[in-house]
Amino acid sequence: MVFDLTDEQKSLQMKAREFSRNELLPHFTRWDRESEFPRDLLRKMGEAGLLGSTVPEEYGGMGTDRVTNGLIVEELARGDSNLSLLAFGTLYEMLSFAPEELKREWAPKLVRGERFLGIALTEPQSGCDAANVRTVAERRGEIYIVNGVKNCVSILNADGWSLLAGTDRESGARGISMFLLHRDTPGLTISRPKSDLGGRAVPRGVLTLEDARIPAGHLMGEENCGFYYIMDAFDYNRALIGLMCIGAARQSLEETIEYVRCRRSFGRAISMNQGVSFPIAEADTYLELARNLCFKVLWLRDNDLPHRRETAMCKWWVPKICVDVLHQCLLLHGHYGYSQDLPLEQRLRDVLGWEIGDGTAQIQKLIIARELIGREFVG
Ligand SMILES: Cc1cc2nc3c(=O)[nH]c(=O)nc-3n(C[C@H](O)[C@H](O)[C@H](O)COP(=O)(O)OP(=O)(O)OC[C@H]3O[C@@H](n4cnc5c(N)ncnc54)[C@H](O)[C@@H]3O)c2cc1C
Repeated sequence: MVFDLTDEQKSLQMKAREFSRNELLPHFTRWDRESEFPRDLLRKMGEAGLLGSTVPEEYGGMGTDRVTNGLIVEELARGDSNLSLLAFGTLYEMLSFAPEELKREWAPKLVRGERFLGIALTEPQSGCDAANVRTVAERRGEIYIVNGVKNCVSILNADGWSLLAGTDRESGARGISMFLLHRDTPGLTISRPKSDLGGRAVPRGVLTLEDARIPAGHLMGEENCGFYYIMDAFDYNRALIGLMCIGAARQSLEETIEYVRCRRSFGRAISMNQGVSFPIAEADTYLELARNLCFKVLWLRDNDLPHRRETAMCKWWVPKICVDVLHQCLLLHGHYGYSQDLPLEQRLRDVLGWEIGDGTAQIQKLIIARELIGREFVG
């Protein structure tokens, strides 16, 4: 077992750390308040080589492994967990199913930060029950006519989304296809009814498709296989979500360590009290364990080994312990922590959302139980 990083990994990790410290950390609370991030920042991220690290060189990327992608995401999340989302390798992995022409059009632009993508799966009646998609795509010659509503789409300011729609209504999960949906598709309306508790810089909202016309060439992979593609993508995404939450929590823990050394009460540093130092020791333990689990998943995936059970563990447990760590950090700052003068309340709001997004804890435990006990014994 080797826990060391290669020189290339160390160098990208440092680059991401520097970028995060200089370009994200000083500004991310403003983007939360403005519910938007500056578009030119994405180009800067691209220029720094922090977007699409796993994209093969022939499509403009560096062709790194997924562990390296995880290192970048973790570092960026120290500065802003929301923007680290844009460096997720999953978005590029889904694009790999697209026809060659689309890949050549999109992948280099994603790597340079000229475009970015999101995922459109959830509908008003189907979140956990993701195969119960009611959006329908009917093929008519060289286009698909698409009707339906996606009501919980992150990165509403994206240039496009991986859209999941039914192409064979009778077949449930086996009748769902994946499309690349352009932002300017005729028949697509983008709306933002209300603001979420967190994640505001990459806002969530609604895509309504009314006789929307998607070119047949925007079908990704095989027709009726989309559900399996997206479930496989989630197996990667869930480890990255873990690292995103860890980045935010680790940054907060470091800030808290600094604070408890300086803040004095009853004539001494508050860190002299075990009631203060022990929660910090516990948080450090949880984050270390959680990080190892996330990187193990990425390593398993890099080596084509099964990882569905482990990635489900990441998804239910890691955001939860990161919320606990952030909660402790906030409390140890007293009223300052509760105020908007410090970024802790925002990080808590941002990370909390990832106990739900991309699959709730109950669904992850169902996956683990099925893998362990057998689907026929669990249901
Ligand atoms: C931060 C965030 C980002 C998101 N980003 C996106 C995105 O980019 N694209 C997208 O398409 N969607 C996105 N979502 C939507 C997200 O994937 C869904 O909210 C999630 O899958 C849960 O679905 P739901 O909200 O409809 O809850 P429901 O499915 O209605 O579930 C409600 C509650 O019931 C529980 N429950 C449901 N079924 C079972 C069961 N069988 N056993 C036990 N408990 C059960 C759930 O665990 C949950 O606690 C995002 C959500 C959040 C919060």
